[in-house]
Amino acid sequence: MKITEIRIRKASFAFDKPFKIAFAVLYGFETMVLRIDTDEGITGYGEAGPLEYVTGDTIDSCMVIAEAFRSKLIGEDPLAIQRIHSIMNGMFHGHTAVKAAFDIACYDIASKRAGLPLYRYLGGSNPVFESDVTLPIRSPEEMAAECAEWKAKGFRILKIKLGENLERDMERIRAIRKEVGEEVILRVDANQGWTVKESLRAEEVLRELYVELLEQPVKDSNPEGLKQISLAAKIPVVADESCHLPEDAARLCAMQACDGINIKLMKCGGIEPAIRINAISEANHRFCMLGCMGESVIANTAAMHLFAAMDNITKADLDITFFSHCDWIKGGFKNQGGTVTLTERPGIGIDVDGF
Ligand code: MG
Repeated sequence: MKITEIRIRKASFAFDKPFKIAFAVLYGFETMVLRIDTDEGITGYGEAGPLEYVTGDTIDSCMVIAEAFRSKLIGEDPLAIQRIHSIMNGMFHGHTAVKAAFDIACYDIASKRAGLPLYRYLGGSNPVFESDVTLPIRSPEEMAAECAEWKAKGFRILKIKLGENLERDMERIRAIRKEVGEEVILRVDANQGWTVKESLRAEEVLRELYVELLEQPVKDSNPEGLKQISLAAKIPVVADESCHLPEDAARLCAMQACDGINIKLMKCGGIEPAIRINAISEANHRFCMLGCMGESVIANTAAMHLFAAMDNITKADLDITFFSHCDWIKGGFKNQGGTVTLTERPGIGIDVDGF
């Protein structure tokens, strides 16, 4: 099989409400959508969702790098995923969001050719799972009210963004727990917003409120701090911004710096490196989460298939398309109150109009 054509375009999406996390306010996002055609008539779709202060990619750098990859990858075999990564890694360090776009499109092609939905191509058997939904930072009252709305829609796992100001953050999480009761699972992501000392104080409160896990409390550049928190904490501590690539996972596991790792296709470069991060984590008795960036159903559903396939990836944080919409990229999955069901169509199961 050979790649005959690669098309690249930008796509824009807006959030319903501004989305505030500890280090930024997000109003919407742009992605780069990719289409790969082959000499067997099978087409694959991929997507890059860059987040500058996490991956170093911008939408414009994605377009430039993708164009460079395009010129080298036409004529290559999309089923030879190791070779595809080797070519891309040989050309540019980093630019993981662009690498993820090509990786996803190749997996879409490979699973379509096998006649299997991607989760089954990857060895999975169950297309149904539950994802959390993420709550941005607002006032304690607003966040509690918003949590009640999601709960009323049937969501049972809520991921709460904190990390702005410790006292205020503790007011937020207390107000939320009081509002939603004990049956809702709460996860907290501080997005690097606290110091080690603050994280240790916060953890005592989170523990009393039955919070399930604490994600990335301190700076990505402070794995020693993460380790200190992880060793002292009674709730699991998860690395997100601290872990991009398989080698980061290996280092964090060797240090015993965290209890779990949040994998994102955009941070690591796609499904192939994500599988390796999960394998490293599993061999070191660490669980994985699977998260997302600003993405349409293309990259989001690809991640869902990976989640459905891997036993050691136990926590799904794959909610981006629950609150952002697009009328020309469709399909992928059905969602009912956070319970996701993947389609049985071969590949990722996406339709892209006019591209
Ligand atoms: Mg995170």
